[in-house]
Amino acid sequence: MIRGSCLCGQVGYECGSLSGPIVHCHCRTCQKAQASAFNTSARTLRVGFGWTQGEDGLVAFASSPGKLRWFCKACGAHLLSEWIDRPEVVLRIATVDEGLGSVRPQAHIWVSHLPEWDVLPEDALPRYAEGME
Ligand SMILES: [Zn+2]
Ligand SMILES: [Zn+2]
Repeated sequence: MIRGSCLCGQVGYECGSLSGPIVHCHCRTCQKAQASAFNTSARTLRVGFGWTQGEDGLVAFASSPGKLRWFCKACGAHLLSEWIDRPEVVLRIATVDEGLGSVRPQAHIWVSHLPEWDVLPEDALPRYAEGME
């Protein structure tokens, strides 16, 4: 079981294993939503995902029509995004506290959106100008 929580600890979640690779997404929307150079995320099946505490402390922002990003109202931590009509939700991996085991990031995606001040880390991961699919 994977378990995670927000910065202030009011909101918690758990889910089964990941259903896709962990990726570092450098797209402009992720930069803004995370207030960070990139967002490390991975999918998990919606049916296996649940909020364990603090669900009423969440607020959603629709960053595109049909795409919701869920934040803790108290601390602002971005925990999850979802396309409301898809069977998977997308975890912000940095909010996971336990249960990832040995899985590691597999790619950098949307590197075409890299801001001029940012430099990609010198790792061996493949880089995609846009998404992987
Ligand atoms: Zn919080
Ligand atoms: Zn992104």
